[in-house]
Amino acid sequence: MTQEIQATCRRCGEKHRLEHISSINATSDPDLKQQVLDGSLFLWECPHCGERNLDTAPLLYIDPEARLLAILSAEEISLEAPQEGPYAGFTVRRAATPGVLIELIKIFDAGLDDAVVDLCKQVTRMEMGKDALELRFLRLNGPDNEIIFTYPQDGQMKMIAIGFNVYEDCSRILAGH
Ligand SMILES: [Zn+2]
Repeated sequence: MTQEIQATCRRCGEKHRLEHISSINATSDPDLKQQVLDGSLFLWECPHCGERNLDTAPLLYIDPEARLLAILSAEEISLEAPQEGPYAGFTVRRAATPGVLIELIKIFDAGLDDAVVDLCKQVTRMEMGKDALELRFLRLNGPDNEIIFTYPQDGQMKMIAIGFNVYEDCSRILAGH
């Protein structure tokens, strides 16, 4: 589903009309899902100055297989998990930025629980001694399902691998036993 929106170039300030995709079904639109994952869906080039801008207008992302319903919205919105209808039982999440949405999709594609991944990040930050470090889930790795996080350092993206046992421990903590 698309809608026309007006966007302003961050460099030259010119206004420009954009075909904005407002809703994606990951099963029926696998190409669009790929464009979300590689970030290209969010980029638009200003016809006046050539600047590459980010389209952060609201986007509804539905993945029936992962049972995920995610809404990209810079603004806080109240969300309730649907109790009935086609999306009953889906996990409902808001993503504040495209980067957060991409990470969420990767977490669900890997079959992981985002709340458990968040706790894994806290544990990893504590072990690294960096409370404010922005860790992002990248993928599972190797036969032991190591969890790979990325983080920025000195203008570069670094990676850190943690054992899947950390995820299992965090999962048990959140389950309360
Ligand atoms: Zn421009």
